[in-house]
This record gives sequence, structure tokens and C-alpha cells, in this order.
Amino acid sequence: MTQRVKCAECDNMILPQTAADNDGLCAQCVKISPELRAENREYERQLAEGLVFTPSPAERANSKLPPELANGQWQLQPEYYAERNFESAMDAIIAAKTESGGNVFLVTDDGGQLNLGFTDRYGVCEYQNQDTGDFRYAYTKSNLREQAPEELHVVQACPCCGVGMLWYPSRYHMPRDRAFSLLENAVSGCESPGVEWLETDDFSYTEHGRG
Ligand SMILES: [Zn+2]
Ligand SMILES: [Zn+2]
Repeated sequence: MTQRVKCAECDNMILPQTAADNDGLCAQCVKISPELRAENREYERQLAEGLVFTPSPAERANSKLPPELANGQWQLQPEYYAERNFESAMDAIIAAKTESGGNVFLVTDDGGQLNLGFTDRYGVCEYQNQDTGDFRYAYTKSNLREQAPEELHVVQACPCCGVGMLWYPSRYHMPRDRAFSLLENAVSGCESPGVEWLETDDFSYTEHGRG
């Protein structure tokens, strides 16, 4: 029997001939560009060292309060709430609070979007404005600094239809009460003390219960 060897990049065990043909790589890894493989390796390193569980220095350095969060007129996202009978943004927030998981999607006339995703224990707040190019998440001292458990992990959902897209990194998660009060404050035109709005980066590497 031929002794298999480990792929130079992943855990696949491959035939020595495959390794010889592909520079030590398995049939899957050889199809991925060297840049992407390096990026993936870097992510795995940061995950193994626990670095992904706190904001990076670059994220912290770019903290900014989007003006709309202090004085925006937040309203229901029209498509998402088209068939739900809520009078106001506050009504939608109050109704969501009674659920064990879900979303609240609010918008302003100036292109602002405030997205809340929540599970039984955690909430994630994102602010986006395509017009100004602002993409941020809310960070507080009580955000998670360890792996979000699978069953409590919050998924990013599409603001128009609520369909799940990407898993939020654990560090985006805050206690759900805190996330709800952040939305209530925004709707009432009050600032939320102790909240930093950090730029979101590419978090497509985060998997369910991992990252
Ligand atoms: Zn491989
Ligand atoms: Zn959609």
C-alpha cells in the first residue's frame, strides 16, 4: 500500500504522485490561488491564537459615530415590513423583543441602514450607508471575547427579505438587551453611551460556531 502524505496546505492525505505533481498540494488546494491560500492561512493563525475574538488595532483606530445614529429619523425597512403591520420602528423593536431570535431592519431617508440580528442571548448591530461608504458594527466592553456558541451565533440577514447570508464574527456579539436598547436609543434620537462603531471588514471566513 502506498503511504499517503499530508497536503502542504490542508489536512487532506494525498498520494505521493499527486504531491509531486502539485507542489505538495491536494487536488482542491491546487485550484486556489496562492494569495487566497495565504489569506486563509493567516485567518487560521488568528483563529488559533484567539486574535479574531477582539477587534484589531485597525478596527479600533477607525471608530466613529455615524451622525445618523445620533440624529437620524429611523423608520421601518419598507420591503421587510411590507406585510407586517407595525405603526413605527419602536413597535417593531417591541415586538422583536418577545422573540427568541430574528431581526429588526431600520432605514433613514439618507441611505442609512441599521440592522439588528439577535438570538436568545446575543444581538449584533450593524450600521451601513452605501451613499457615504460607511459599514460599521457596534462594539462595547460587554461584547463577546470568546467563541459564540453555535446555537446562539447570530447570522447576518438580508435587510429586504431576512434571508441569512454570513455568520457574524463572535466579537460583533453583545448581550441582546444592550443591542435592543441601542436601537431604542437610535429611534428616540439619544446617544448610546459606551458604544464604539468600528468598521466591518471581510468576515466571510467566519463559520457557524467558528470564528
Ligand atoms: Zn489541500
Ligand atoms: Zn433580500
